Amino acid sequence: MIAIDERGYYGEFGGAYIPEMLHANIEELRRQYVDIWEDDAFQRDFRRLLRDYVGRPTPLYLAERLSAHYGATIYLKREDLCHTGAHKVNNTIGQILLAQRLGKKRIIAETGAGQHGVATATVCALAGLQCIVYMGAVDIRRQAPNVSRMKMLGAEVRPATSGSQTLKDATNEAIRDWINHPEDTHYIIGSAVGPHPYPDMLARLQSVISEEMMQQLAEQTGRDAPDAILACVGGGSNAAGAYYHYLNRPEVRLIAVEAAGKGVHSGESAATSVLGTQGIIHGSRTLLMQTNDGQIVEPYSLSAGLDYPGIGPMHAHLIASGRAEAIAIPDGEAVRAAFFLARKEGIIPALETAHAFAALDHLAYSADDVLVVNLSGRGDKDLATFIPFLDENR
Ligand SMILES: *Cc1c(COP(=O)(O)O)cnc(C)c1O
Repeated sequence: MIAIDERGYYGEFGGAYIPEMLHANIEELRRQYVDIWEDDAFQRDFRRLLRDYVGRPTPLYLAERLSAHYGATIYLKREDLCHTGAHKVNNTIGQILLAQRLGKKRIIAETGAGQHGVATATVCALAGLQCIVYMGAVDIRRQAPNVSRMKMLGAEVRPATSGSQTLKDATNEAIRDWINHPEDTHYIIGSAVGPHPYPDMLARLQSVISEEMMQQLAEQTGRDAPDAILACVGGGSNAAGAYYHYLNRPEVRLIAVEAAGKGVHSGESAATSVLGTQGIIHGSRTLLMQTNDGQIVEPYSLSAGLDYPGIGPMHAHLIASGRAEAIAIPDGEAVRAAFFLARKEGIIPALETAHAFAALDHLAYSADDVLVVNLSGRGDKDLATFIPFLDENR
């Protein structure tokens, strides 16, 4: 049975390893999140915004040309059609409603590529709440369009100038801010990581993906479960949502696709499930890439959304227990898969999502297999990365 326990553990992974100064903030959330989630008025508001603002349910699309190529039936869960172009908004919509119920007036977030920052700035505008997004100074330079989007939406983007000036430094800055503003501030984390209750909260907020999938599969195929679900994993939120209602259906293969960057053993990779060992990062015990003396190894992936040195505790448990299979895809295969999907189906996926499509080349099929690929986001944001590969993909 895959489930989180009262202390926030999936098996040996999870928990809340936090400085004393954060205890009150986390404890407030932990005490209230399930009650808020189960409250009828919350569910009504959440469902209404998912429908009318985000555009849910997202379609479950039978990809006929892709299916013919692989000799199996392949459906795409179209999270790329969500408002703002990815699944991340499912979480931020839920957390902004939660923040309002907790009486918070000020929202902070961390962002790497800027996608979570944009999703957070969007819902803060919607709710009329102050929004401060911490972002590494290097990432601010690399991701200028998303910085402009956040600013247009009214958010303040604060540079994190310590360390490598990327995502983990932005996260540290956000935590520091939260410690200094425990009363009026809610911290919207962007993936299924962090101290309990965040991983479980993220999984619940994203679980609408597999909830819809069950109903749509039943309508389209006569059975509510596929043989396999593929999802890319950065911290693990889109995968957690796509797996959620199938976690305890062992007949459904769960395939977690990570970024191998320049190759799993190249020293420039984000393949946490292969390279990771147990440790504590951003408040939870999980698998992370670290040196023998516990220094975090800088991750690398061509896709900014996957280069996180850890993996959420749910996924660490799913992989360690054998419930999920991990596949690591190098940059080149992901780029080729993005072109392949664009040419076969007329859909340009996010570079993160392209890793999940590349994993299709690593599976064996029988003709009656039904697979779902969680199409976590659209690729418009990655065009500048794709364009140099146009020549070799004619
Ligand atoms: C951020 C992002 C991811 C990775 O985050 P998860 O929390 O692992 O889902 C994957 N796909 C897209 C499109 C993203 O924007």
